[in-house]
Amino acid sequence: MNALLLTEYMKLELVEFPEPGIGPDDVLVRVRACGICGSDVHGFDGSSGRRNPPLIMGHEAAGEVAKVGGNVTDLKPGDRVTFDSTVYCGKCAFCTRGDVNLCDNREVVGVAPKEFKRHGAFAEYVSVPRRIIYKLPDNFPYEQAALIEAVSIGVHAVSITPVRLGDVAVVVGAGMIGLVTLQAAKAAGCSRIIAVDMEDAKIDAAMAMGATDGINPKETDVPAAVRELTDGRGADVAFECVGYAKPVASAIQSVRKGGTVTLIGNLQPNVEIPLQYVVTRQIRLQGSCASNGEYPQCIDLMARGVIKVAPLISAVAPLAAGPSWFDRLYRHEPNIMKVVLCP
Ligand SMILES: [Zn+2]
Ligand SMILES: [Zn+2]
Repeated sequence: MNALLLTEYMKLELVEFPEPGIGPDDVLVRVRACGICGSDVHGFDGSSGRRNPPLIMGHEAAGEVAKVGGNVTDLKPGDRVTFDSTVYCGKCAFCTRGDVNLCDNREVVGVAPKEFKRHGAFAEYVSVPRRIIYKLPDNFPYEQAALIEAVSIGVHAVSITPVRLGDVAVVVGAGMIGLVTLQAAKAAGCSRIIAVDMEDAKIDAAMAMGATDGINPKETDVPAAVRELTDGRGADVAFECVGYAKPVASAIQSVRKGGTVTLIGNLQPNVEIPLQYVVTRQIRLQGSCASNGEYPQCIDLMARGVIKVAPLISAVAPLAAGPSWFDRLYRHEPNIMKVVLCP
């Protein structure tokens, strides 16, 4: 099969690669679309250490079933599917209590840190366990399905945040995850959504996707502006989608007493937090990791247009164009949101 192989850091090559084998509980998927994730770019340059070459990356994918293992009875060749990026074991204490995103034996498709290696979906075929596969409606475009993983991160973050009808939400960072999180927050009942980003173009995108207000921290003090918009009170919830010290601090300082800050971004391993501010105002800090089986809800929300991803797709390109798109993303070419490759 054709595959886009990371042969060494900073080097992607279109190669002939053996078709993956499948075990009795696995499904071979003929990949039709696979999104390039920011984490793939950080893997491509070696900075994250989570994509040890040689590796086929790619975990945001959709396609059709090509072959099923002996134990798989509810899927057949030709079925349109997508899959979770997290491969959970289904057996550990966390899986059995329903927190599959916290699985002790968690692996990720298209990722290779020291502990495991799983080839991903920048290839014609990928093998994944049945338990992480979800069926797609007939008319659901594959290139939009490739964004379900990103949508699921926003939907999960909102689902573990106490949101009430009419709440005010601040979304810090209006990149891919911020833009899907704000749509999920709106669907969950937040009526005022304040988007924060350093780039005006991203604030414009956020406004187009349902944000009611936009703040650029380069020009405006974020917590002060949020207070001004909320009669001095602060927002009920904040979603932090960047993961650097400054945006984390501004999310914390933007919520009201008793408010919740849900932390999704995690670019920096450690950030300082205003401890006394958090304690004395009884602010709840909530981490959010990947998603926990929210795929059926995401598929439904997207199919009904409640969460829109079409405007987030900057380019749909053949697999062979992968190396040049990785290069453009690596160089932070402006105005590129999601690039989807079609093997
Ligand atoms: Zn991703
Ligand atoms: Zn597990």
